[in-house]
Amino acid sequence: MIFRWNYKCFLCNHPIDLDPIPETHYEWLAYYQYRFVYNPVPLFMNRMYYKTIGEKMRRVCSSCFSTYKPVPFRVLRDREVGLCRVRTTNQPLSLSIDELMEWLGGMEEFFYSSRNHS
Ligand SMILES: [Zn+2]
Repeated sequence: MIFRWNYKCFLCNHPIDLDPIPETHYEWLAYYQYRFVYNPVPLFMNRMYYKTIGEKMRRVCSSCFSTYKPVPFRVLRDREVGLCRVRTTNQPLSLSIDELMEWLGGMEEFFYSSRNHS
């Protein structure tokens, strides 16, 4: 299985608008059979959306589209003088490249391992 994408999310740098391409006929059959039963890869958060960030249209994933908020000026001011702590943002729900590679490794082990064929 090959995952192809053209853009990355502007905020979290995860790949967006993924296009899975099966390499072999067996993978093609499995992918097109199981995608109606149960989505084999949860890519619904890696869809591409446009969001206005800093007066420019940016390509973001759907997770960042729904959760991103710009930091207001008073919060930046309070951070500078030490009135409030810096809060880290939550990890977005879209899949990163490492998670995709992990899924691909697990899929190859499931499909082509020597235990299943013996
Ligand atoms: Zn994102």
